[in-house]
Amino acid sequence: MADTIFDKIIRREIPADIVYEDDDVLAFRDIAPAAPVHVLFIPKKAIATLNDASEADVALIGKLVLAAARWAKAQGFAEKGYRLVTNCNKDGGQTVFHIHLHLLAGRQMHWPPG
Ligand code: 5GP
Repeated sequence: MADTIFDKIIRREIPADIVYEDDDVLAFRDIAPAAPVHVLFIPKKAIATLNDASEADVALIGKLVLAAARWAKAQGFAEKGYRLVTNCNKDGGQTVFHIHLHLLAGRQMHWPPG
């Protein structure tokens, strides 16, 4: 799989505002925030899109979601609410081909997102 900007962030080759890290997951603030809180939760394992995830990734994807939910709780805005989004390929609006969850919070979200 081709190297992405997120692999460079994992290897600390380019800077990022990292807010959470464990053995499998890294989280850092989005460079172009779409909400007052906009953090990207990524697996350290490079998986290009959700289409490329397999049975072997079930636990990893669970960890990714839980890491985001726990971080939201720890930051104190979980009760008020937040949104977790993952974009897949062109129609989904994906631009970085290393799966990630966008955690958006700090303003009222709307549905449908457009
Ligand atoms: P996607 O469009 O693939 O769902 O989301 C990719 C996200 O990565 C975008 O929201 C974009 O702003 C963010 N992004 C792209 N390059 C960088 C970077 O170098 N650093 C950080 N922190 N975020 C980035």
